[in-house]
Amino acid sequence: MLSKTVAELAGALTRKEVSARELTQAYLDRIHQLNPALNAYVTITAEQALAQADAADARRAQGNAGPLTGIPIAHKDIFCTRGVLTACGSHMLHNFIAPYDACVVERLEQAGAIMLGKTNMDEFAMGSSNETSWFGPVRNPWDQARVPGGSSGGSAAAVAASLCAMATGTDTGGSIRQPASFCGLTGLKPTYGRVSRWGMIAFASSLDQAGPLTHSAEDAALMMNAIAGTDLRDSTCLELPFEDFTAQLNQPLSGLRIGLPREHFTKDLNPAVQAILQEAIRQLELLGATFKEVTLPNNYLSVPAYYVIAPAEASANLSRFDGVRFGYRCANPANLDDLYKRSRGEGFGDEVKRRIMVGTYALSAGYYDAYYIKAQKIRRLIKQDFDLAFNEVDLILGPTSPHTAFKLGEKVSDPVTMYLEDIYTIAVNLAGLPGMSLPAGMLNGLPIGMQLVGPSLSESRLLNVAHQFQKNTDWHTQRPEV
Ligand code: GLN
Repeated sequence: MLSKTVAELAGALTRKEVSARELTQAYLDRIHQLNPALNAYVTITAEQALAQADAADARRAQGNAGPLTGIPIAHKDIFCTRGVLTACGSHMLHNFIAPYDACVVERLEQAGAIMLGKTNMDEFAMGSSNETSWFGPVRNPWDQARVPGGSSGGSAAAVAASLCAMATGTDTGGSIRQPASFCGLTGLKPTYGRVSRWGMIAFASSLDQAGPLTHSAEDAALMMNAIAGTDLRDSTCLELPFEDFTAQLNQPLSGLRIGLPREHFTKDLNPAVQAILQEAIRQLELLGATFKEVTLPNNYLSVPAYYVIAPAEASANLSRFDGVRFGYRCANPANLDDLYKRSRGEGFGDEVKRRIMVGTYALSAGYYDAYYIKAQKIRRLIKQDFDLAFNEVDLILGPTSPHTAFKLGEKVSDPVTMYLEDIYTIAVNLAGLPGMSLPAGMLNGLPIGMQLVGPSLSESRLLNVAHQFQKNTDWHTQRPEV
């Protein structure tokens, strides 16, 4: 039962084969059994979950339930949750009890989803392996010697190991898509502005976007129906009418034009990953799609531009953590300067400090034009590459990650290698576009994803293509033995 999709569980709840309370208890039991090894959850909200489950059962009995009513979910610990520890993977917030719910949390609760707890993540979402978390690394359920990807690694591991039915993640440069690829999941990063960032602890505000981590595209569509949409509390949230993301799932793919970026299919891409993508391309051709080469000539500049822009924004966003207002405060400060210095020095981990230093440098007088403005210009060129490509094709297909999940400790001491993890995903954030990763094959017992990218607001089309692919393949139905 626990490894079922959200759509299947909703059916079982409707047919009364199981109650929300039974389902919730079963997930909680499994969490207690497996979380000590996986470290996917940092907080488990058992009591609250059972109370929400009873409310969901009552709502179903009254006949006013939606598809998510009674479905257990895990939230990345970057989302504020009222009355519940919200630590964002950091010592800095190890004691922060949020006074309100993030918009995403609020909307999923209104839809009747049951929060099982909060998931582990890289500190302030900075990382690609979940190894920068103050709570220690998460283990990949497919091979516990390996990372689950990051920064939404806890959410991805929790869904993959059936410790919840679905989870929230956030993606600033790849943090939904890369862990989805490493854990065999479907992960969607929506168009910038589709989902409210209100109550989501800010890393790089012009890049951050929340989205679903699920077993299937259909489940992702169900979650999007709950979380997407106008929110006046986030001034960058787009004002759009409600869109039913499940409406187009069954549209046939005939006439669909897909672009293959020349820059993604090079000798740098692992040949086995390349072969898996070729097989996926063949499958989509059978479904009616046609393929042509496109070019994203500035993609190679995406990682360097991102590592100026994201740290610059992070250095500003993280200035609020000063030992006065939120979270960690050093013991016995001698004066105000000492309070700031030691609270920040002791509260932040190494990767966060590295980003604050890089960001502060890039924004400082004398370097601002050379780094920050230059990076913004590159950002515009990257967006232009996509615009030109989308004059010729409807979507772009390529790898999500150059490889399968790597070993714990393998890259952690080399920041630049770690930064290059996101070579296929980061440009999508810089351009503000929607992108998703879905399981496309297995390599030595480990899942590997493919990435689909579309023009602004093309989520329904992406989900349609992913759903049709999943109706004809079974990569997304595989589950690890934990
Ligand atoms: N790996 C990237 C970084 O460390 C992206 C992280 C993210 O998307 N949150 O910044």
